[in-house]
Amino acid sequence: MKLSTQLLIDGQFVTGDGQAEPILNPATGELIASVPEASFEQVNRAVNGAQRAFAQWSRTTPAQRSTVLLRLADAIERHAEEFAALESLNCGKPYLAVLNDELPAVVDCFRFFAGAARCLQGPLAGEYIEGHTSMIRRDPIGVVGSIAPWNYPLMMAAWKMAPVLAAGNTVVLKPSEQTPLTALRLAELASELFPRGVINIVCGRGESVGAPLVEHPLVRMVSLTGDIATGQKILQSAARTMKRTHLELGGKAPVIIFDDADLEAVVAGIRTFGFYNAGQDCTAACRIYAQGKIYDKFVAAMTDAVASIKVGGPREEGVEMGPLISDRQRNRVASFVERAQSSGHVEVTAGGKIRPGNGFFFEPTLIAHARQEDEIVRREVFGPVVSVTRFSDAEQVVQWANDSDYGLASSVWTRDLGLASKVASHLQYGCTWINTHFMLSSEMPHGGMKMSGYGKDLSLYALEDYTVPRHIMLKL
Ligand code: NAD
Repeated sequence: MKLSTQLLIDGQFVTGDGQAEPILNPATGELIASVPEASFEQVNRAVNGAQRAFAQWSRTTPAQRSTVLLRLADAIERHAEEFAALESLNCGKPYLAVLNDELPAVVDCFRFFAGAARCLQGPLAGEYIEGHTSMIRRDPIGVVGSIAPWNYPLMMAAWKMAPVLAAGNTVVLKPSEQTPLTALRLAELASELFPRGVINIVCGRGESVGAPLVEHPLVRMVSLTGDIATGQKILQSAARTMKRTHLELGGKAPVIIFDDADLEAVVAGIRTFGFYNAGQDCTAACRIYAQGKIYDKFVAAMTDAVASIKVGGPREEGVEMGPLISDRQRNRVASFVERAQSSGHVEVTAGGKIRPGNGFFFEPTLIAHARQEDEIVRREVFGPVVSVTRFSDAEQVVQWANDSDYGLASSVWTRDLGLASKVASHLQYGCTWINTHFMLSSEMPHGGMKMSGYGKDLSLYALEDYTVPRHIMLKL
């Protein structure tokens, strides 16, 4: 497998001049590669290159941009096995899950925005002041600085690059310092298709590489998928140069299970959607509210289901869940479980422990009898830990579900679709699924409310986020 460690800056592959960042295999703890991060000067060169490229790229037709994006999608598809191998190596994810779930979604994202680039529409031109014709244009913004997290590195690169490029902007992408490998390989494929400077990839830590990117005066917009605290720092910094921001922050998805729900379907759903990617997912089905009559049956069945999840390395036969991204993240998850246990009223009915041996594994964990005020119900764990809380009626559960800093995703499980629709309409979350969870499609927006942020990924709404409506008036 080819390991690319060079950055793409203004059309050239260069070795970072900054500190070398060790890239670990989370399934074994071993060193995979060392990626030197970009220096301040290299970030500057990337932004300047993107600014120069903007002059031409922003004037290409939607059809021209669409053609290049489609070619990139085809190239990724041709290299799907290589990307899946790299991603599972760098993140510890089950190889087949990356190949069968993530890669098709990445390819589809580029294909969707290739088509969407040609479909933006606006209001009619008209005379709103006598003797003057007004028209609306939707134009690209300029250089976009995109900052991605470690949980779905290639998919986040796709979500951050495809709409930005489709709209005619240029991009400087900073992957997470822990997971740069697929973005660097993507850079190699993209550099053969896109004009010089349109795509730049700089690696490194938030403080040393992300912060100068956000502060750069020629970066006109910053997009981040990451932690709330990082979003707050970026907002403060962006305020100085009045940059547009696109923030996708964390989540703590409430999952509301009414007494009449299909128990088997709920248990199967949460077994998948609560533990996919080892729960390192901002939409993970992690905060369960189960109604009084179904509660005990649900906890019993869910406990067995969680205990049956097969944990292991990326290539193990039948593996369903891999390790966490780092030892640090695993310790963070373990400390959440310890603090929950020390409350005295919760019961860890499955898992709850670090798995001994190499790699950063934590057992899939179910915590029953959690209360609304508990930390485990209120804070994002970002690991394979699901809590269950008992509720009595719809009004109470809507109030509890909304009583959260987060507002990204939620789900409602019941056979009564009238009740489901009513509850869905009262939830303050960017998305509510009914009798399912976690299903994303390129055509539909993904994004939050409240402290989960406000940027929309996927869909035509993302294309709107990365463009600006402008008024042109002609005196007749
Ligand atoms: P993080 O905020 O620590 O890091 C995200 C990115 O920001 C990284 O590339 C990091 O280097 C960079 N960064 C950190 N400090 C910075 C600074 N001061 N200036 C500029 N850049 C900086 O998050 P993480 O630990 O990589 O990812 C986990 C978080 O991401 C979770 O909270 C999760 O919920 C969130 N997330 C949200 C979504 C969504 O769609 N809303 C999707 C995935 C992950």
